[in-house]
Amino acid sequence: METQFVLSSRCAFQASRLSYYPISHLLSKKKTRVALNNRSCCRHSHRGLRGNVHMEVTTSPKVKKLSHPQSLLDGAQLFIFDCDGVIWKGDTLISGAKELVTQLKSMGKRVYFITNNSTKSRAAYLKKFISLGLDNVEAEEILSSSYAAAAYLTSIHFPSKGKKVYVIGERGIEEELEKHNISFLGGESDKDKFLDMRPGGKVVQDPQVGAVVVGFDRYINYYKIQYAQLCLSQNSDCLFIATNLDSVTHLTDAQEWAGNGAMVGAIRGCTQKEPIVVGKPSSLLIDHVIQKHRLEPNQICMVGDRLDTDILFGKNNGLQTVLSLSGVTTKETLFSSKIIPDYYIQSVADLLNK
Ligand SMILES: [Mg+2]
Repeated sequence: METQFVLSSRCAFQASRLSYYPISHLLSKKKTRVALNNRSCCRHSHRGLRGNVHMEVTTSPKVKKLSHPQSLLDGAQLFIFDCDGVIWKGDTLISGAKELVTQLKSMGKRVYFITNNSTKSRAAYLKKFISLGLDNVEAEEILSSSYAAAAYLTSIHFPSKGKKVYVIGERGIEEELEKHNISFLGGESDKDKFLDMRPGGKVVQDPQVGAVVVGFDRYINYYKIQYAQLCLSQNSDCLFIATNLDSVTHLTDAQEWAGNGAMVGAIRGCTQKEPIVVGKPSSLLIDHVIQKHRLEPNQICMVGDRLDTDILFGKNNGLQTVLSLSGVTTKETLFSSKIIPDYYIQSVADLLNK
């Protein structure tokens, strides 16, 4: 049976989270000055989750290299790894990754893998793990933003409302919606759609669409944008859900490519609406993990290669954070950043207990 998020009374839940992880604790522990967004002390709007950065580190304490992993390994009960740039690079496994997963599991630690890439479902991701030799990973340990979108809709009882989802995105979102018994249209089936631009030509949207999910889509076109725009502006209470807001992604090793921020930006631009973000740095996935395993946030360690998603995601949720220099962040960028991880490593091999 699929695990579901429990998201009722989210703001009350957030208040309880803050009660045991107060800002004063952040101040003393991190020795940094924290500025709250002056709109609210709660990072959730009453419409749902957003990807807002709710705290801003305004000083730059020394960035610490993790030289002795034992204390980190002793203190953290659960590790969350970003995938690309941490576990693998493209189609190459990063040295030490498999051994680390084995080591952590043998120590009784929980391990999760998190990715903002929505083009694959958890089942499809598992095939990639296995193809790279990571046969010690389970599908339930993979948290993709495609899964997060479907799980979020399930948590708000969307499937029982008889509504459908309009998908801007690829097969990963469709597979997760199917697995969660959520009806959908659009997506891959609309990738070759043309518009009737003759006099009187128009697109007619399905009035039963109650949510538009926007994920990375290499086949986005004007038909999909117009369809989504009509659903969001004309269907009552239609939700706008973004798998993530990543500005760039890595389709090839030759350059950075426009990320899902481009797709979300198109819909945001024509509707003037803000999306509910379900991937990093939104708190939804970490809330799910915390509730499931009944852990304190500081018992969880986030290991990532990107400061503005992985490390910010960890810091915003009170996790321990480790930046790996095996991905997109250089040492120069790290040392000049206002987002400071607890530690940095060259690669996950540095976490091995040698
Ligand atoms: Mg990454």
